[in-house]
Amino acid sequence: MVMNMKVWENNIRRVKPYVPGEQPKDQSIIKLNTNENPYPPAPGVAKVLNNMDVDKLKLYPDPTMGILVDEIADFYNVDSNQVFVGVGSDDVLAMSFLTFFNSDKPILFPDITYSFYPVWCDLYRIPYENPALDNNFRIVKEDYYKDNGGVLIANPNAPTSIYEDLDFIEDIIKHNPDSVVIIDEAYIDFAGDSAIKLIPKYENLLVIQTFSKSRSMAGMRIGYAIGSPKLIKALNDVKYSFNSYTLNLASILSGYESVKDKDYFERGIKKIIATRKRAEETFTELGFSFLESGTNFLFVTHEDLNAKKLYEELRENNIYVRYFDMPRIDNYLRITMGTDDEMDILFDFLKRYLDKI
Ligand code: PMP
Repeated sequence: MVMNMKVWENNIRRVKPYVPGEQPKDQSIIKLNTNENPYPPAPGVAKVLNNMDVDKLKLYPDPTMGILVDEIADFYNVDSNQVFVGVGSDDVLAMSFLTFFNSDKPILFPDITYSFYPVWCDLYRIPYENPALDNNFRIVKEDYYKDNGGVLIANPNAPTSIYEDLDFIEDIIKHNPDSVVIIDEAYIDFAGDSAIKLIPKYENLLVIQTFSKSRSMAGMRIGYAIGSPKLIKALNDVKYSFNSYTLNLASILSGYESVKDKDYFERGIKKIIATRKRAEETFTELGFSFLESGTNFLFVTHEDLNAKKLYEELRENNIYVRYFDMPRIDNYLRITMGTDDEMDILFDFLKRYLDKI
């Protein structure tokens, strides 16, 4: 026990928390730092919130979140007992760690990936190992063929932005019949095929997605998992042992409206992908290089520029991007796709910045 520490202090669960990207109050800041979507959610969301009957707030919301679960099931052509909904995919991931990673063997996830994963491992005391991405920041799939307590892959990966195709993901699942394999697909709608396609073949596969990126609803906090009825039942049993009422009424109703509007969803994704293409061209013209992106952000670097210094200069000029002070990626910036106008302001700044050096 540390000197001068009270006995009760010694019994506090201590964790080094995850640090989310900054949410500045100043609305004029060009915010390209947390991979939000710059466009509004589907119009039905505004309608349902503007017309909400506040009298309904007297009651608890539906703990099964039935209308939202059914609509998601319908969208993905799965049964409702294959869908679990939570307060953002962070909540779904946290519940999944608690539910599925209970082995003495280490769970496996890459050394460079979503930095929340090791925090949950520490919180729940789950042992873990981090196979290194290769020199091109690609996952080495053979590293996941050994004995383990679970496997977790973000696809596309963050912050690298790289998408691996379904054959690659299926190889990892095939080699892990004794573990739950979780694929975190926060950015999948900007990439390609989802591993949801593989669920009929693999009872131990859980796919997690979010409303925060492609559905422009980070502020509503909605995420979901799709998997076999067995996995979803296990998740629900843990959820009902923790907090029965996770989503509030406004989230349930607005989430439902978002999923219903397929056309708006598809158009929104096309817009972000078009901006990404344009941004790739301009970054190339300016001498930046970047990894091939299947996300709503680009992970960029420039031979002649110090990324940390550029990050700070951008910040002073009210343009926020994300910088990770971590080995191997400390000369990269992760830049979220904003509107085309926002990207133009970024590029004007970068042109002037490069002219000066
Ligand atoms: N997974 C990955 C890979 C992410 O980048 C994020 C966003 N920070 C999340 C999950 C969590 O997103 P949310 O909780 O908003 O659904």
